[in-house]
Amino acid sequence: MSLTASFHVLQNSTSLLQDKSDRIALPATQTYDERNGSYASKLESDISPHAIFLPETTDEVSKFVKLLGPIVQEGAVKFAIRDAGCQPLPGCANIQGGVTLDLSRLVGTTPDESQGTVRIPAGELWGAVYKAVQYKGLGVTGARSGNNGIGGLASSANHISKVASRSSAHAKASSPDNIVNYEVVLASGEVVNANRHENADLFVALRGGGNNLGIVTRFDLSAFPQGNFWGGALFYFPDSFGGQIDALVTELHRSDVSEETHVMISLFYADQFSKAVGVDGAMGLSQAYYTQEVEKPAVLEPFTNTQPQIDALNSMRMTDLVSAAEEQAKQAMTSVRCAYMNTTVKVDAPTLHAATEIFKPALEKVKSIDGMVFSFTMQPYPVSLLKRTAPAGGNVLGLKPADGPLVSILILLYWNKQSDDEVVLSTARSVIEAIDKDATARGTLVRYKYLNYAFDFQDPIGSYGQENRKKLQDASRKYDPDGLFQKGVPGGFKLFP
Ligand SMILES: Cc1cc2nc3c(=O)[nH]c(=O)nc-3n(C[C@H](O)[C@H](O)[C@H](O)COP(=O)(O)OP(=O)(O)OC[C@H]3O[C@@H](n4cnc5c(N)ncnc54)[C@H](O)[C@@H]3O)c2cc1C
Repeated sequence: MSLTASFHVLQNSTSLLQDKSDRIALPATQTYDERNGSYASKLESDISPHAIFLPETTDEVSKFVKLLGPIVQEGAVKFAIRDAGCQPLPGCANIQGGVTLDLSRLVGTTPDESQGTVRIPAGELWGAVYKAVQYKGLGVTGARSGNNGIGGLASSANHISKVASRSSAHAKASSPDNIVNYEVVLASGEVVNANRHENADLFVALRGGGNNLGIVTRFDLSAFPQGNFWGGALFYFPDSFGGQIDALVTELHRSDVSEETHVMISLFYADQFSKAVGVDGAMGLSQAYYTQEVEKPAVLEPFTNTQPQIDALNSMRMTDLVSAAEEQAKQAMTSVRCAYMNTTVKVDAPTLHAATEIFKPALEKVKSIDGMVFSFTMQPYPVSLLKRTAPAGGNVLGLKPADGPLVSILILLYWNKQSDDEVVLSTARSVIEAIDKDATARGTLVRYKYLNYAFDFQDPIGSYGQENRKKLQDASRKYDPDGLFQKGVPGGFKLFP
């Protein structure tokens, strides 16, 4: 069956589309242009699907899979699954000439106080979720930016969050990823729940398996008490960055490391910004949070006392999940080319200083590129966080408490012109590869690559280790025996090399 013929099957399916033609957006329509233009990276928006399907219920997602599944298996069409479209990896949530299943209309967060959980449909944004729980005095582990989507984050770990450690300590489920149930549409179109008691192997596989096992239509997260807290961002001159690394290393190696803190430190270059503050290179940027209502907590002082700072940009204050997520959302750029790449190392001062020295000359190479933003960020995984995974049912990431504490190194890039793609991407890749090589020589490289921050040359699924890859492959064979999500959904990182 040709692509056009298969599309007509979709369009004419009375069972799916009776009086619901607004569920399909075709090229050159307002909905299509808005949705396809709303990815965080133009690398994704440059891709043109044949159609975008916008279901409003789980049942419609199920019908979509039942209808399209057989056509996909014939090889006539492929599809992509997207939520907010925040992962910048090209093609991970969009598909040239195929059908993009856009879950953004699955909304309506409902806190369930009797269970201590929050039911979050896959199309929600974290900002809306925080609003829905905050007025009840609750929090959940989610992205720091309010515009970020649930689906991509929650199907690939959900452990880099302001409140990740706090939620581990306080939530019933005591899990870094904090998800207690997934509602999933399988390759057969059947809707199942995956949790510790039902489809437990699928539950574990979804904690890191990305888009390989099904379409998650609802995430139930464990909630925890969360009030106001202290935190924000501070900018300082680059010479102080080494001191921030040392503070991070000291904090993470303390035997009584606080579960209330979340710190990330960056060297951040943005052409206009650097010119405005008169620095010919990257600025230091640290974001530090203490998730209790305590003003200027002593535990953050090694980070916040750095001098001199650019005081006008210091946003440390008493805040809450909603406002902090709004602040971060304002900092994110949209409608520009964007890419992420990452690696993971042990919390070792020489390794982190060496990584910084690898980044600096690479920045010099690309900083004159039009619209260049080049950020180099260290985000910790404290041992306390890694320890919570096993009691909460496990995941497939392959991170062991004995390997910790760890630091994720993220390179985040924005730029304007397609003609600069190659130099920008190859320069950033060379930084990650050089850090990996250097850390390997020091014995401090950790194989793990965070799927959400990975780029196309990386292998996050392989980085989970053989045993975990096999767990994922076994789950795929069991829940998707014909390999719909392997062959029919080519975007992202697949399970069978
Ligand atoms: C401004 C910004 C801030 C960020 N902040 C954080 C942060 O604080 N912490 C952090 O860990 N990460 C953060 N990220 C990374 C972000 O969490 C990931 O890129 C995440 O994948 C985005 O989720 P999404 O729902 O928008 O995914 P999309 O980009 O829509 O999809 C990403 C991948 O997930 C798959 N997928 C999406 N939804 C589903 C579903 N329901 N079922 C099955 N598969 C699905 C897609 O097929 C695709 O492969 C940030 C990114 C940006 C741009």
